[in-house]
Amino acid sequence: MLQIHRVHAFNDNYIWVISDGVFGWVVDPGDAKPVIDFLNTHRLTLSGILLTHWHGDHQGGVEELCSHYDDIEVIGSKKALKGPSHPISEGESVNVLGATFKALEVPGHTLDHVAFYSDSTLFETPIAFTGDTLFAAGCGRLFEGTADNMFESLQKLNALPENTTIYCAHEYTLANLKYAAFAEPDNSDVQSRLALVEKLRSQDISTVPTTLLMERLTNPFLRARDSSELAARRSQKDNF
Ligand code: ZN
Ligand code: FE
Repeated sequence: MLQIHRVHAFNDNYIWVISDGVFGWVVDPGDAKPVIDFLNTHRLTLSGILLTHWHGDHQGGVEELCSHYDDIEVIGSKKALKGPSHPISEGESVNVLGATFKALEVPGHTLDHVAFYSDSTLFETPIAFTGDTLFAAGCGRLFEGTADNMFESLQKLNALPENTTIYCAHEYTLANLKYAAFAEPDNSDVQSRLALVEKLRSQDISTVPTTLLMERLTNPFLRARDSSELAARRSQKDNF
């Protein structure tokens, strides 16, 4: 079996470490130091990096990690350029410690954004690394793509199995749920999740990962019926 560990970076970024107990791959290392500290503490050697998109808080640590460890494979989006990165396209696969991850192109937040999905039996459930596309109860801001792009990208993720564990790159859940309660005031699943997340966050407990099923019930962007509803909610949330 493989394990997935959470490493905190900056204010609210999550860097995910996939490990087999000896080697590790990291997802979106915006900063090298917390990754190196984690790997040292757990006596893991870095062997690869997955990058969802080009933003600095997701790939800022790549160069330092590549100079710190030998022969790292860096698999990135088309624009994630730092380090010796290999771009991956829709439907292509990458082998991570024996688990096959498939790339899903999910433009919207940026145009180059990819998500990584695996249904390997080395994990307890199917898993997806969704970067800044699908958040717990939210979605990324539309910096480069359109609402149409984001709608299609979210629906592509929505086609994954409902028990898929979703690893996103930021702890934005509480603010997202406050907006979700405004967008869908009659959604009781949002109300109960908001109460739970308020309690967890008051104790500084992480609310990520989430599951696709939970997002189907409570995420106002995944639940948007069409791209115009998504566009309206996205701009409302930007000013919420
Ligand atoms: Zn971003
Ligand atoms: Fe980010």
